[in-house]
Amino acid sequence: MNSNVEVSIGRVKLGAGNPVVIQSMTNTDTHDYKSTLKQIGEMYESGAELVRVAYPDRECMEPFRKITSSAPCPIIADIHFDAKLAVDAIKAGASKIRINPGNLSKKNILEIISAAKDSGVPIRIGVNSGSLEKDILEKYGSPTEEALAESAIRSIGFFEENGFKNLVVSIKSSDVMHMIKSNMLLKGKCSYPIHIGVTEAGGLLRGSIKNSIGISVLLLNGVGDTIRVSLSDDPSKEVEAAKMILKSMHMYSKAPDIISCPTCSRTTFDVIGTSNELEQVLKRSKKNIKVAVMGCVVNGPGESAEADFGITGSGNDCVVFKKGEIIFKGAKEPAFNRLLKEMEEYEDKD
Ligand code: SF4
Repeated sequence: MNSNVEVSIGRVKLGAGNPVVIQSMTNTDTHDYKSTLKQIGEMYESGAELVRVAYPDRECMEPFRKITSSAPCPIIADIHFDAKLAVDAIKAGASKIRINPGNLSKKNILEIISAAKDSGVPIRIGVNSGSLEKDILEKYGSPTEEALAESAIRSIGFFEENGFKNLVVSIKSSDVMHMIKSNMLLKGKCSYPIHIGVTEAGGLLRGSIKNSIGISVLLLNGVGDTIRVSLSDDPSKEVEAAKMILKSMHMYSKAPDIISCPTCSRTTFDVIGTSNELEQVLKRSKKNIKVAVMGCVVNGPGESAEADFGITGSGNDCVVFKKGEIIFKGAKEPAFNRLLKEMEEYEDKD
């Protein structure tokens, strides 16, 4: 998006016009590498291109090494307070390190820079209200948008003065408007890829809505190169929500879109049950198709003519349509099976 520096996290490239990258974070115990790898696999299958893993102590080194060597995608180590952990994580195969420079001494940051430079590993500078430098907090009186942006820009300057430009930057907040405004202040002042997302956003519904607003406003304004939808839920749902945000913005083609009518007094078909069933079936599909589930045969096919496929009906008499033309009539089960078969045989154009 707005960044002009390309940063490589393993095989994944961020910034400089590359597509927006979806990432998420595990919530398993990192010491339990088997469970962590299982969860990473699920997130990857769901569409995550990068996964962040907490690295809380020095005992993590061996399990983390096993994780980075077997994971299907590059792994980012999430480090807090201790430079030695960052150095260990790099040695154990981290493809990126995430730190909050505001919580580390300059000496410690220099140690991390040195290890990252030697290994060619990028660093994400994380800024949030809890990591602001004392003098910046005193200057602004509270963690204002300006304070967060100044902290990020100061950290970028420190890394650059020390010869390190392999950077990703993030300003996070749990308040949507705060997050939008502080990131907008980076526009034109940060040439590095920017990681965006609303942190501590809540559960599936609330968190998805907050993240949709925060992420889409910034992306439409040209800010953001990688996204994380933070949810108090299964991390794979974070990935699904992220895909839906990008898909809605025409920035993602490796997932289907389901359109379904809101139902009304004319409804003669089980729209809600069928669309939920389709959501499950298509959860991990990478096909760029649009499927419609409509509540009545009167308006359904016409209203969903833009879709590649659709299903509707009256009671157990269903119709399946393709590009607005009816291709099958019959009971619900064979109709649904025909829809699945058609979708399976559908070849993506891109
Ligand atoms: Fe109502 Fe039919 Fe429109 Fe669904 S498609 S909202 S059932 S008129």
